[in-house]
Amino acid sequence: MKKSITRNISFALLGYTLFIVLLLWLFQISFLNSYYQIMQKGSIGRASNKLIQQMIATDPDEPFDAVLERISFSHRMCSLLLDGDGNEITSIDMLGRGCMIHSPARFSLAQLLTPLLDGEQNNMVVIVNDRHFKGDQLVSATAVTLPDGARRILVLNAWLQPVGSTQEILKSQLFIITCVLALLALGISWSVARRIARPVDNLTKKARRLADGDYTADFDGGGISELDRLAETLNFAAEGLSRVEELRRELVANVSHDLKTPLTMIKAYAEMIRDLTGGEKSKRDQQLEVIISESDRLSELVSDLIRVSRDEDAQQRLSPAAFDFSELLRDTVERFRQICPDYSLSLDCPEASPVFADQNAVSQAVYNLISNAVNYTGADRAVRLSVRPIGDRLRFEVRDSGQGIPADELPLIWERYYRSRNTHQRPVTGTGLGLSIVRSALARQNLPFGVDSVVGEGSCFWFELPRASAPGAPPQVRL
Ligand code: ADP
Repeated sequence: MKKSITRNISFALLGYTLFIVLLLWLFQISFLNSYYQIMQKGSIGRASNKLIQQMIATDPDEPFDAVLERISFSHRMCSLLLDGDGNEITSIDMLGRGCMIHSPARFSLAQLLTPLLDGEQNNMVVIVNDRHFKGDQLVSATAVTLPDGARRILVLNAWLQPVGSTQEILKSQLFIITCVLALLALGISWSVARRIARPVDNLTKKARRLADGDYTADFDGGGISELDRLAETLNFAAEGLSRVEELRRELVANVSHDLKTPLTMIKAYAEMIRDLTGGEKSKRDQQLEVIISESDRLSELVSDLIRVSRDEDAQQRLSPAAFDFSELLRDTVERFRQICPDYSLSLDCPEASPVFADQNAVSQAVYNLISNAVNYTGADRAVRLSVRPIGDRLRFEVRDSGQGIPADELPLIWERYYRSRNTHQRPVTGTGLGLSIVRSALARQNLPFGVDSVVGEGSCFWFELPRASAPGAPPQVRL
């Protein structure tokens, strides 16, 4: 069975509470007696040390008997000071009938002191069960040799209070505390779990809607920082998906429009030849020319789509090498001059421009940029190409005199399937794929590229290539 957040938190909090309660039980109930005895032994030991120090002091600031009385009083104990033969020198009885060392009927002091009197032992602490008073007593005896060589034995006797009744009180208190803490733990874990589980549930529901294609879902992490971050990421993903969906719809619309126009023309001209002009060679040839050029447009469109899908697979391998960029430009410009004789294409480039890059990818980028410039240039139908050196690079520019691109559209035009809103003001063919192919061709080689555009004046698309000093010699550039 899978564990829910509520269950996990409840178990953790309940476990923690039980652990604390167990510690309290151990220390306050089970170990209370031993702990108390250790404390009392420590206390009587310290009192005994203090008294012995006082006894052996050469110049005491207070008479020993007074100190013995004061300390016996403050520790609520009886004391006896004996000489080396066990004869009493000083005696203080603070406990009265409760004292063991003053009650020979209940306790044999001589028996306890034998090892000290014989000099076998110097110190001992014993707990004696006093059957008469039904309790325990602590008796400590310490032998000491004074500076003048005389031997003394200091005996102290303190009551050990019975802890049984205290334990009973603590037990009943702890029982109540255990119940209250367990209830509190359950309540807190339930409310914390609800606070976390609810936004998680919401996120899950909305993510399901997103998976079903509803991109309007607005994810909210409920003010929990980790969930807020997740919600932010999901919102970002939803935005991206919605944009892709929008672009996909646009592409289908554009591609179907761009496929339909040439197909209509091809069909119309083919029918015309069949029904009317089949016998007239000059008219028939003219119309066949149109059919051929429309077929070319169709095949161009299909090639673009194939190139993009191949790019998507990221299977295309780059093979950078040195080649003459000027020569590539001259060949491409020549092709364009033949396809669009009504346009004026000027090329300003050095006689030879050796560069180091993947020639196919660069040629693709050049072709698409010139094709766009021809498509979008202004009434003068002019497109200017130039190449100039910048440091160890060559900068290639394609300028047109078209409407330019608004600043807010500039970052978008490189995206796949993007076509400007005002594109359809002119009978321009295109799928919105041209610039995404340019971007992919250049970015994969880490080549800088961009566009400068002024609305109403035209655009200048550019990219830079690393120069090759001699054909075949790669420059220091990462591809
Ligand atoms: P398309 O097939 O629509 O030309 P592209 O990816 O080549 O697709 O271009 C994307 C969009 O960028 C175009 O729809 C157009 O709005 C804009 N664009 C591209 N080149 C130019 C240019 N030289 N002048 C003005 N706009 C341009």
